[in-house]
Amino acid sequence: PRIVFSGIQPTGTPHLGNYLGALANWARLQDPDVVTGTSSINYYSIVDLHAITMPQNPATLRQAKLDVAATLLACGVDPKRSVLFEQSRVRSHTELAWIFNCITPVGWLGRMTQWKAKMEGKGMGHAQVLADESLTTGLKMGLFDYPVLQAADILLYKGTHVPVGEDQMQHLELARDIAGLFNKTFTNVFPKPTAIVPPAAKRVMSLRDPSGKMSKSDPSDFSRLNLVDTPQLIQAKIAKATTDGIRGVSFDPVHRPGMSNLVSIYAAMRDIEIDEAVKECADITSTKDFKNRVSDAIIVKLQPIQSELVRLQADEGYVRKVLDDGAEKAEQVANKTMEEVYKAVGLR
Ligand code: ATP
Ligand code: MG
Repeated sequence: PRIVFSGIQPTGTPHLGNYLGALANWARLQDPDVVTGTSSINYYSIVDLHAITMPQNPATLRQAKLDVAATLLACGVDPKRSVLFEQSRVRSHTELAWIFNCITPVGWLGRMTQWKAKMEGKGMGHAQVLADESLTTGLKMGLFDYPVLQAADILLYKGTHVPVGEDQMQHLELARDIAGLFNKTFTNVFPKPTAIVPPAAKRVMSLRDPSGKMSKSDPSDFSRLNLVDTPQLIQAKIAKATTDGIRGVSFDPVHRPGMSNLVSIYAAMRDIEIDEAVKECADITSTKDFKNRVSDAIIVKLQPIQSELVRLQADEGYVRKVLDDGAEKAEQVANKTMEEVYKAVGLR
């Protein structure tokens, strides 16, 4: 079968980018493949050890983990068909990361763009990176090493398919390389995982600065649409979203990044192609009218997720139980892989 692994950081509340880039696929991948009929085993993790690569407040982090778990359930992750768990509850994630650290060249990590973007306090969208050496002054080992831990997360379960947003493609490529390097250095233990990126809205951009991606850790709440935002707030955020002075609706990410971001969001909310979305809005000349249409579509789409979330948040005991069961199941699989790894390396 297909082994699906993916993670989300409890660094804040999940937003529309997380949903369209990753979470919508998480739910979908629980069903057998429509073409081949292949069924899958799904592991979805709240990756708290990744969250602490940036400063976190302990009480906030603890609460965020529960909130993210409830949100994942509300987005359709089904504990009967998926193993939903907190990363730090399965200790082998860090053990395997250490073993990978011992074979991974530092140069491979130096090429990653995420730590640079995070050091600049920006989302992953900013490919333009400081060449400045002084950049590493405040760089923590954990933030630099994040992609190795991510490779360990996936490979601990021998993950073959990884549903992520486009910003994670570089890290996934690294995970493939690390799997290959381990197999070549020792014995063949790991598959090479493949990314599953949605055809549209794989990178939802910030509402304030459409040159960067929408991020949980962006200090401005108006840069993103949280899945929990009220209809009023959604409307206000879209009304304030950065666009341009050009009349009419069109899709041109280079010259009209803000407008194009809204068009992609609109298309994704309505489950239609970009071309179709542009056609639907051909008669609209005022940006204000277009924005109203976009916020209406978002409000309608999020409504069922939000009401399910309210229900789940009133039942913390259930959410905790799901996480306990998940950790237990994940650990069993992880322990098996680690036995193979220890043997291969010569630690047993
Ligand atoms: P942070 O700012 O703390 O890194 P984040 O918003 O980037 O938070 P993550 O927890 O790092 O969220 O990523 C969870 C998943 O959401 C990943 O698969 C990632 O690729 C996807 N994702 C994150 N942001 C976007 C976005 N703007 N568009 C599409 N997918 C996204
Ligand atoms: Mg991120």
